[in-house]
Amino acid sequence: MFDLIVKGGTLPDGQTRDIGIKGDRITAIDALGDATAGQVIDATGDLVSPPFVDPHFHMDATLSYGLPRINASGTLLEGIGLWGELKQVMTQDDVIGRALQYCDWAASMGLLAIRSHVDTCDERLLGVEALLQVREQVKDYIDLQLVAFPQDGFYRDPTARANTIRALDMGVDVVGGIPHFERTMADGAASVTELCEIAAERGLQVDMHCDETDDPMSRHIETLAYETQRLNLQGRVAGSHLTSMHSMDNYYVSKLLPLIAEAEISAIPNPLINIVLQGRHDTYPKRRGLTRVKEMLAMGINVGWGQDCVLDPWYSLGTADMLDVAFMGLHVAQMTSPDEMRTCYDMVTVNNARTLGLADYGLHVGAKASLVVLDAGDPVEALRLRASRLYVVANGRVVSQSPRADATLNLNGQPASVRRRHRAG
Ligand SMILES: [Zn+2]
Repeated sequence: MFDLIVKGGTLPDGQTRDIGIKGDRITAIDALGDATAGQVIDATGDLVSPPFVDPHFHMDATLSYGLPRINASGTLLEGIGLWGELKQVMTQDDVIGRALQYCDWAASMGLLAIRSHVDTCDERLLGVEALLQVREQVKDYIDLQLVAFPQDGFYRDPTARANTIRALDMGVDVVGGIPHFERTMADGAASVTELCEIAAERGLQVDMHCDETDDPMSRHIETLAYETQRLNLQGRVAGSHLTSMHSMDNYYVSKLLPLIAEAEISAIPNPLINIVLQGRHDTYPKRRGLTRVKEMLAMGINVGWGQDCVLDPWYSLGTADMLDVAFMGLHVAQMTSPDEMRTCYDMVTVNNARTLGLADYGLHVGAKASLVVLDAGDPVEALRLRASRLYVVANGRVVSQSPRADATLNLNGQPASVRRRHRAG
């Protein structure tokens, strides 16, 4: 007797299995025959996947688009200025309200683990207090990991250092940074060193906004790889964005990639945001500003797509759909072979779970009973359709349901309804 059985679904690796759930755990993956359960979901022909994971988000800024005005130039720097204006007027209740609304969107999209940066350049640490409260409030359905992020520069902002440390004392999970925004390359490198030392002392993970620029000389990822090795932080460090790598000299990159691999640093490109914000100073040809995704994957580096922004000072769109993120990444990185598209699906599920260090993630006996049933036959079809989430199960409980994306038709001699699913051959 199970609490819940998800019957006949197709797993991401193509196997057909029944999944038995007791309490908040997966307790069987097999052909369960006539086994009984409190609730049975018929997933025959549908993809059953572990939940989506977003490794890079800004939940303190989300759903604030237009407050107090929109970003006229569309650049990263105007976005940072605009966020500075909003910080002056927002309240803790505003941040909590927007964050909880976003978490509702996320749950409905099967996005059940999120790493969010939270700005620590604020004497009141209002965003930090708000998101610590939200982390607690959503913990039954979303794993929310918080990164102490000195948005205005760990050294460049005179109060950032003390407030970033204070945020970590308050219980923020991960150490962040923004070396390319410090006043000089030397300050940027020094900030990477000090922030990694803080993480090593406290036994925390590191996730830096690193080289989010089109400047081919922005090379803080090199320092991050070096400090990771020096402080024995292998496997606990992520570099977010790494967009300068798009513009770097090829010889230098051939030296850099093995250093990143050696340090076991995870890479987090954010394709929706990188394609929108980078290359803004170019005429033509205009750079894409996405880091070297295929090349890093080929080196064995763990790479996963991040979302970064939804309706905020930097990005005017977004729906909490990690399939949308992977879809953009797949196009911009030209990852269009069947294997590469499959990899893009892993890059919003298992690869990101690895970056976050999520325990008990996945579809196996003993794992947390969190999964998504999609209106698609396999991962590539899920990407193509940005498929509906028919059921979202979080810790053994169905937390959201959506209808299939069928349409009715009124065409002479044609079927009365259409479902845009397709079987090859
Ligand atoms: Zn970011």
